Amino acid sequence: MEPRIQRTAALRGGAGAHILGPMATSVLVLGAGFGGLELCTRLSEGLGDQVHVTLIDRADAFVFGFSKLDVMFGKRTPEAVRLRYADITTPHVRFRQETITAIDPVARRATTNVDTYDADVVVVALGAEFDMAATPGLAEAGNEFYTVPGAESLRDVLPTFTSGTAIVGVCGTPFKCPPAPSEAAFLLDEFLRERGTRDSVEIKVVIPFGTPVPPSPETSAAILARFAERGIEFVRDRLVSKLEGGAAVLDDGTRLSYDLFLGIPVHRVPAVVEASGMTEKGWIPVEPTTLATRFPGVYAVGDVTSVGTPKAGVFAERAARVVADQLIARVRGESEPLGYDGTGSCYIEFGDDGVARVDVDFFSTPGHPTGTFTAPSPQTTAEKLAFSATRRGRWFGP
Ligand SMILES: Cc1cc2nc3c(=O)[nH]c(=O)nc-3n(C[C@H](O)[C@H](O)[C@H](O)COP(=O)(O)OP(=O)(O)OC[C@H]3O[C@@H](n4cnc5c(N)ncnc54)[C@H](O)[C@@H]3O)c2cc1C
Repeated sequence: MEPRIQRTAALRGGAGAHILGPMATSVLVLGAGFGGLELCTRLSEGLGDQVHVTLIDRADAFVFGFSKLDVMFGKRTPEAVRLRYADITTPHVRFRQETITAIDPVARRATTNVDTYDADVVVVALGAEFDMAATPGLAEAGNEFYTVPGAESLRDVLPTFTSGTAIVGVCGTPFKCPPAPSEAAFLLDEFLRERGTRDSVEIKVVIPFGTPVPPSPETSAAILARFAERGIEFVRDRLVSKLEGGAAVLDDGTRLSYDLFLGIPVHRVPAVVEASGMTEKGWIPVEPTTLATRFPGVYAVGDVTSVGTPKAGVFAERAARVVADQLIARVRGESEPLGYDGTGSCYIEFGDDGVARVDVDFFSTPGHPTGTFTAPSPQTTAEKLAFSATRRGRWFGP
């Protein structure tokens, strides 16, 4: 059994004010997703042997959220989209494949199924999980494409679906990657057209917003125009409450019959986070510019927080960079870097290999996020490929 990480610096001063001494600073990163991976890489780049990072995840591989769409529509195999943590070679970062069973934010300690870890700084990047049971009937009479197993099972179901009504339905808010339901509808339309069965299928998308991407009217208009062109029905401002007797029952009682239900399940923090006492109203509150929690020396980034940006990898990654930059500046004795700005760019699959981009800004005008749209083009399609390739290389090596 590995020894515990030894504390290397005493806590002096107020929240987050660790004075990090000449010995390497120990940072414990809980969760090796978008946020955790970027955080480790940036710390390693910025601090070299002045930092000692332990990264813990129960999984043995990372999968980009958007790769689940590739798996679902049979474009890539589940094996091909897995980026194995065993391949991480980032200096000064050690990866442990363990399940975190308890987090003590006061002691800055995490317990796993194998060991206990203490550190100078703890960053919680454990993402969001899915509560299938919160939507009666979803597990028994529906499908989901937000997990790799869910996407894999749909890969086998979709070729057998040749007629009837397909509903892509959101079951709760907040949910990861708000454009993903629209993307799934476009890709389903493409899938059915390629097989010559599109004319015998109706596609409906149930989304709890008035428009597909509320911060960007231009993006929403483009998605709605493509829905109209492709005969996809948009059911706005509604959630799916349950599946019952072959119908999706919406939160206003409307019943929509379906033959194939593609659900976005209710999201929640992992149980270990809930049990840690760090959450309020379901998510970890953080100071929006620094990502500091109310526990000194403990930060949270990504989907696990209620920071005020959407649950998407690009936001988790940007928040992780901000936390890393603060720690780097503190160790080097430099002035505090810029805080988290709540901006990010998301790629949106429009079908037929067309990829658009929306650049959103959640903080500049409080309460009024804004966004600009870049229409699908070969350039944006190439940009999305480059986006995943650079992360793969940066986090997992060449
Ligand atoms: C279909 C789909 C499409 C998407 N498309 C995009 C997109 O185009 N662009 C984009 O930016 N985002 C997209 N996303 C969203 C994106 O995948 C997530 O928002 C992002 O992964 C969140 O990063 P994170 O670091 O907060 O958490 P995650 O990446 O979810 O990482 C959390 C990690 O914590 C680990 N973990 C949880 N509990 C424990 C425990 N008890 N012990 C040990 N480990 C644990 C998990 O195994 C996981 O690896 C998409 C998501 C889906 C489902």
